[in-house]
Amino acid sequence: MSRGFNFSAGPAVLPEPVLRRAQAELLEWGGERASVMEVSHRGKAFVAMAEKAEADVRLLMDVPDDYAVLFLQGGATQHFALLPINLAEAGQRADYVVTGTWGKKAASEAKPHCAPAVVADTAPSSFTTLPAAGSYAIAPTAAYAHIVANETINGVEFPGPIDAGAVPVVADFSSSILSRHVDVSRYGVIYAGAQKNIGPSGLVLMLIRKDLLARRGQPRAKILSYAEHAAQGSMLNTPPTFSWYLAGLVFEWMLEHGGVAHFEVENRRKASSLYAAIDGSGGFYRNPVDVPARSLMNVPFMLHDAALDAAFLRESEAAGLLALKGHRDVGGMRASLYNALPYAAVAALIDFMADFSKRSG
Ligand code: PMP
Repeated sequence: MSRGFNFSAGPAVLPEPVLRRAQAELLEWGGERASVMEVSHRGKAFVAMAEKAEADVRLLMDVPDDYAVLFLQGGATQHFALLPINLAEAGQRADYVVTGTWGKKAASEAKPHCAPAVVADTAPSSFTTLPAAGSYAIAPTAAYAHIVANETINGVEFPGPIDAGAVPVVADFSSSILSRHVDVSRYGVIYAGAQKNIGPSGLVLMLIRKDLLARRGQPRAKILSYAEHAAQGSMLNTPPTFSWYLAGLVFEWMLEHGGVAHFEVENRRKASSLYAAIDGSGGFYRNPVDVPARSLMNVPFMLHDAALDAAFLRESEAAGLLALKGHRDVGGMRASLYNALPYAAVAALIDFMADFSKRSG
């Protein structure tokens, strides 16, 4: 069987050249006479690889020197809990701007550890909008203001940072990291599960402003402390070595292709073509999201008649267009257009959609 065009929301498509390189290096890596999975994370070769991966992230995202780059575990979900434990005092207020399923979960998971306040919530629009900039206020006493930069399930993305005054913005970038230019200095914390634009699951990338590492937070074991992870080069314990290695290969692949600027151009081209096909389908397909809030990475769309969903999924998969089924919260279809998905995949999807509507219209 050959590889299909993979529209999965995550774990998601990885760059083929990266997979080929990993395949070529699988049995023997870095002159170690063993694979990267079989050597000590404290050995010279692995430490050099880890340092290069950090340097490449700093280059790709233009990370200022007063930020630490951490390679952590636990998925983004674990950090929904660890963020308040590290950044808020017990009972302290932390503000949440909720624009989708993941933001709602982040606020809920913070409850045992601080006093999360949902200052804006677009649930009444079924998470198809962004709150207007002046329609909510971040409390100056809040430990931080949390957003989800791109809501993977709902297909809603902030076009830029929110204004939280002097309160640090903490942003879950799991599904949009490295997809477009981000001014890191506008955020206190940027964190992302790896399994969309970075590499395999099991790894969380975090950029954290160093003054936040000095916050007292709450009593916690070392393994739960961002400051301890930063002090130990993210090697307090054994990290997910293969995921870290593969992430490093993805960073190199991105740099070889011109970095984030190149992928942003490609991502805008892919997303605008697909949205144009949906909007121009005469109502056969529909994306429910407000135009300025539409995501570059995750495009949910519905067929005008849900009775056609099963045939659409069956036939698209047979045509090599994989994992288009929408999330159960939203229904319909969802096409995820991460960095590693080539424009040709979107072109093939658009062709298929036009053909399917012609045959079923
Ligand atoms: N936040 C966002 C925006 C996500 O898309 C996801 C996973 N799809 C998560 C958090 C949860 O990530 P994990 O499964 O790595 O905990």
